[in-house]
Amino acid sequence: SYQEATGPSAKKDNSKQKNDLPSKEQSKAKTEEEDKDVCPICMERINNKEILRKCNHAFCKSCIDQAMTYKQTCPVCNTVYGLMKGDQPEGTMSTRTVSSSLPGYPKCGTIEITYSMYGGIQTSNHPNPGKPYCATSRRAYLPDNKEGREILQLLRRAFNQKLIFTVGQSCTTGAKGVITWNDIHHKTSTEGYPEYFPH
Ligand SMILES: [Zn+2]
Ligand SMILES: [Zn+2]
Repeated sequence: SYQEATGPSAKKDNSKQKNDLPSKEQSKAKTEEEDKDVCPICMERINNKEILRKCNHAFCKSCIDQAMTYKQTCPVCNTVYGLMKGDQPEGTMSTRTVSSSLPGYPKCGTIEITYSMYGGIQTSNHPNPGKPYCATSRRAYLPDNKEGREILQLLRRAFNQKLIFTVGQSCTTGAKGVITWNDIHHKTSTEGYPEYFPH
């Protein structure tokens, strides 16, 4: 068990500790010297640094979070975040609930999402503009609980912003594009379910 130290060595050197603490003026001067650590929003030294992933501009997390709720662009260079539309082909997203459970979620049913994506001609945002890409259908699954329904809201928003799919290079010839998942991760199989629709 812990015993309180009573010897002279336990005495704190209070005068030394006081000198180690910078005064308000000293810390302000230091902030102005270190330009790269100043938040462009509050003009103070960055607190809990957040670096934007595309342009690498840095802000206090609280400052940039607040700024992004008004406008989802970098306040320094106007790089667009979040609101930009993707290059997802036209298609539909539909959902239904089924009574069987996903592994790990035995107490609730399952939300089954079906994406039916139409074929078409690649645009300038795709790897081979002017070349066709094939239609495809995909299924994905979420647990039918609060968490799953929240994720479903996010997926619906992402689908409307054309962020769920993109057109990628065909693995075989490269002549025909294929519709592929963008970087949003889905659970695409449950035990006993096929991973993809036949198409
Ligand atoms: Zn700030
Ligand atoms: Zn920026």
